[in-house]
Amino acid sequence: MSEAPTYHNYIGGEWIPTSTGAVGENRNPATGDLIGYFPRSAQADVDRAVAAAAEAYRSWRTYPAPRRGEILYRVGEILMRRKEEIARSMTQEMGKVLVEARGDVQEGIDMAYYMAGEGRRLFGQIVPAELPNKSALAVRDPIGVVACITPWNFPVAIPSWKTMAALIAGNTVVLKPASDTPLSAIKLVEAFEEAGLPAGVLNIVCGGGEDVGMPLVRHPDVAAISFTGSNDIGRRGNVEAAQELKRVTLELGGKNAVMVLDDADLDLAVEGILWSAFGTTGQRCTACSRLIVQRGVRAELEQRLMERASRLRLGDGLDPDTQVGPLINASQLERVHSYMDVARRDGARTLLGGEPAREGALAQGHFYRPTLLTDVTPQMRVGREEIFGPVLSIIAVESLEEAIAVNNDTRYGLSSAIFTRDINAANIAMRDVTTGILYINAGTTGAEIQLPFGGTRGTGNGHREAGLGALEFFTEWKAIYVDYSGKLQRAQID
Ligand code: NAP
Repeated sequence: MSEAPTYHNYIGGEWIPTSTGAVGENRNPATGDLIGYFPRSAQADVDRAVAAAAEAYRSWRTYPAPRRGEILYRVGEILMRRKEEIARSMTQEMGKVLVEARGDVQEGIDMAYYMAGEGRRLFGQIVPAELPNKSALAVRDPIGVVACITPWNFPVAIPSWKTMAALIAGNTVVLKPASDTPLSAIKLVEAFEEAGLPAGVLNIVCGGGEDVGMPLVRHPDVAAISFTGSNDIGRRGNVEAAQELKRVTLELGGKNAVMVLDDADLDLAVEGILWSAFGTTGQRCTACSRLIVQRGVRAELEQRLMERASRLRLGDGLDPDTQVGPLINASQLERVHSYMDVARRDGARTLLGGEPAREGALAQGHFYRPTLLTDVTPQMRVGREEIFGPVLSIIAVESLEEAIAVNNDTRYGLSSAIFTRDINAANIAMRDVTTGILYINAGTTGAEIQLPFGGTRGTGNGHREAGLGALEFFTEWKAIYVDYSGKLQRAQID
């Protein structure tokens, strides 16, 4: 083994090696450089972490929520102090350009402060009772041990959304980060440790989906699962968890679209499309994967997008000149490229890109050229399936109504955007678009943490992350009746 550092799981307040001693290496997707060796955990490590979380739950559930909030506030301060260092290591680990990695850490900071504030609210309900001398209220109880299973594309933000909401509500957590990005999650957990979180309240177990993820889903002492990732794995996890009637939240894929009407500000639309289609190399769940354009501006918009996208600079995200980083790994590169044959066979035309980028230093990483496909119809696979790379499929339509119909007609329902100067068209979109998120005159990405985040149809199972929606998932309602009449009063009878 080389000099690269070896990292451990954090269980019961200690950084410990796996039960078998197994580790795996992780490499920078832009350069191939070795980042470190990370735990390849097994069932015994999962059992140990769940036991630690279950033990810690006994006291954490009664730890005053404002005090929990103070710990989260300190986590926010620590992340702020370490923002640059964490962002740089995230770029090395995951490939997104540094400015975006900073934004990813910032989401964690925002969530820490937001949920810290919720520690002083966690609002319940007080309602009138139907009988005299009786009060009726409902309070939020935590659920117990929660498993948080996260993807690699937002390596600090998504673990922060989940763990912070779970913890403020009084749950304890076992976090299983994606195998491609354990280091960012480890750094997040370090911030909790430094902030004084009691031992066992938050644990991290690194390793594969089958070895760690599924054992967590099946574990009898895990009460709830918060999963973000692909549709197929989320569905499988949900079916497993249903056997024990566990609570599950799923944040899955997207096939997000920007709609551009004939009256749109095209300068603005071009900026919004480029940012949401090629930012994070198209690897955001909210990435713009379809451009639905009204015919009157199609030719001009395609021309402008070709000009601008062809000038995007690919490279190592630590280089300040880089605008588009690598894909996460070799298999994702292969998967994205496989869609080019699919597109051609179905009759789409490649306007730009459509191939890996291998010149010079790019040969060391998993780079793919920003790609524009046109003459796409809503029935084609590239118009329907999540590609998760820098590929934009262009679909021409006649009208606002057709644009919205095409926008809504996919198995996913995460994010949409519309560029128009017509206030009536914008309002019709607000009424008729059926995704969980809609932007007016902005791209499909850019969620703020104080609003609910999630999607309809195959994007999830109806829950929301972030905002107050997250607390709905991470708490149980307990209805309490207090009778101070001194006699037995029977509801619905007396
Ligand atoms: P993924 O392959 O489904 O992995 C997500 C997580 O699940 C990882 O931690 C993974 O572990 C784990 N996992 C894999 N197999 C498992 C199993 N059998 N049981 C339990 N856990 C298992 O997804 P990904 O490739 O990391 O992420 C990309 C996907 O996430 C895209 O579809 C994207 O749209 C979606 N996403 C959605 C949102 C949203 O909020 N809607 C946000 C971000 C991303 P390993 O890494 O060890 O395989």
